[in-house]
Amino acid sequence: MIHGERVQTLNDREARGDGSYVLYWMQRAQRSASNHALEFAIREANRRELPLLTVFGITQRFPDANARSYAFMLEGLRETKEALAKRGILLEVRLEPPVEAVRDTANAAAMVVVDRGYLRVERRWRERVARRVACPLVQVETDVVVPVETASPKEEYAAYTIRPKIHDHLDSFLSPLQETELERGTLDIVDCGLALEDVEALLERMRVNRGATWVDAFQGGATEAHRLLDTFIEKKLDRYDEERNDPSQDYLSHMSPYLHFGQISPLEVALRVRHAERAGQENRDAYLEELIVRRELSMNFCLYNPNYDSLDGLPDWARETLQEHAGDGRAHVYDMESFESAATHDPYWNAAQRQMVLTGKMHGYMRMYWGKKILEWTPNPEIAMRVALELNNRYELDGRDANGYAGISWCLGKHDRAWAEREVYGKVRYMSASGLERKFDIEAYVRKIDELRASDTPGGST
Ligand code: FAD
Repeated sequence: MIHGERVQTLNDREARGDGSYVLYWMQRAQRSASNHALEFAIREANRRELPLLTVFGITQRFPDANARSYAFMLEGLRETKEALAKRGILLEVRLEPPVEAVRDTANAAAMVVVDRGYLRVERRWRERVARRVACPLVQVETDVVVPVETASPKEEYAAYTIRPKIHDHLDSFLSPLQETELERGTLDIVDCGLALEDVEALLERMRVNRGATWVDAFQGGATEAHRLLDTFIEKKLDRYDEERNDPSQDYLSHMSPYLHFGQISPLEVALRVRHAERAGQENRDAYLEELIVRRELSMNFCLYNPNYDSLDGLPDWARETLQEHAGDGRAHVYDMESFESAATHDPYWNAAQRQMVLTGKMHGYMRMYWGKKILEWTPNPEIAMRVALELNNRYELDGRDANGYAGISWCLGKHDRAWAEREVYGKVRYMSASGLERKFDIEAYVRKIDELRASDTPGGST
C-alpha cells in the first residue's frame, strides 16, 4: 500500500495528456524492490497506458563524495539496472548532474515521479526540477518507515519527544509494499546511458574526487545488503540488545551504507526484524528503535533545521556552554593531518579512525567516542565540527547522510541533555577511555583493527 502521506506534488503543472511515458527520476532510493516511488510511477504508467522510463543522473561533484562512495553506488546501480530490466523497465544512468539529466529526459513525459531526499542538495535538486519540467513532479517518500512530516510537523528536541509520535503511526505504516507489474515495458528504447558492467573502468574515466579509495570490506548492491540482513537476523539479532555496543564484537547489521544509498528499504528491514520472533522482543525493539526512531529523528533534524551541519543547529544550552568553554586549556590538540593519519596519543581512538579508513565503516559505539574526542582535542568547537564532518564524510561509506549530521551534532549536545559541567565539554556529555576499558575488552578491538591492517584485507584500487 502507498499511503497518501508519502506523496506530494512539488509544482502546479497540469498532467500532460500528450505525454508519451511516465518518468521515474531515481535519486535516493536506488533499488528495484520495496520502493514506493517506483511502484507509484509504475501504477501511474499503467493507469495512463504509458511506458515507464527511469533515469538516474550522476553528478561527479556531489558534496564530499569520492571514489570510495561512487564505487559503492555504481555497484548498486549496476544491480538495480539488471533488476529493473527483469521487470521490463529501462534504467538510464547518465553522467550528468541530476537536474540536467531529468530536464533532458522529461521533455515528452506525462509526469515525473521522484523519491525523497532530506539533505540541502537533494532538496534543491527537486526544487529546480519542479520549476523546469513542463509536467507535474510528484515526490514519493520511501526511505523512511513513517513519513517525516506525518511523524511531526516541526523539529523534534530528542528521541524521547519523537518516539511516541512515530509509534502512533507504526502499525499503519509497517505494511508491506506490493509490486505491480508494468504493462508497457521500455526495454525497446535505445539506452543512451552509461554501461555499468565494468565499474572500475567507469570510475577511472570519471572526474571524481580521489580522496578515499575503493574498499573491499563492503560491496555495494541489493544482493549483498540482503545477504548481510539474513546473516544478521539468523546469527546476531538475538544478542543485539546486549552486544551491539561492544566494539570488540560484531553484532551489528551493517545496513547503514545500503540504507544510505537506498539499496535496501528501511520498511523491508523493519518488517523482517519485526517478524523475527525467535530473536526475542527486547532485541527486536532495540533494533527498531535505532532503525526507525533514531534514524528518522535524523531526517527530522535535516529537514527542519537549516543549520544541520554547523554549531547553529545545536540547542541554545549546548551552543552557549561550548562557547563558554571554548578557551579552556586542552591537554592535547591535533591538526587534521594527525587525526586523519590516526596519530593521536590514544590507541582506541586511532583504532577507530583506522577502522573507518580501512573498511569504510567504524563501529557505532566507537563513533560516539571518536566524535567526543575530536571535540576535546581541537582548538574550539567550530573546528571540531569541521574536522569530524570532513573525516566522516570522506571515509564512511554511509557518510554524507542525515544520520552523520545528527550523530556528529549529538557529540556536541544535539538530541541530548545537559550533564555535569567540566572543562572543554561544558555541560555536553563526556566520554572517557577508562569508560571503554571498564565496559569492553577494548584491547581486543585494537588487536582486531591491527590484524586488519596486517592482512591488508580492504584493498584500494582507485
Ligand atoms: P545497527 O546497529 O545495525 O543499526 C541499524 C540501523 O539503525 C543503522 O543502519 C542506522 O540506519 C540506524 N542507526 C543505528 N544507530 C543510529 C544512530 N545513533 N542514529 C541514527 N540511526 C542509527 N550513521 C550513518 O548512517 N551515517 C553516518 O555518517 C553516521 N555518522 C555518525 C557519526 C557519529 C559521530 C555518530 C555518533 C553516529 C553516526 N552514525 C551514522 C549513526 C550510527 O553510528 C550508524 O548508523 C551505525 O553505526 C551504522 O551501523 P549499522 O548499520 O551496522 O548499525
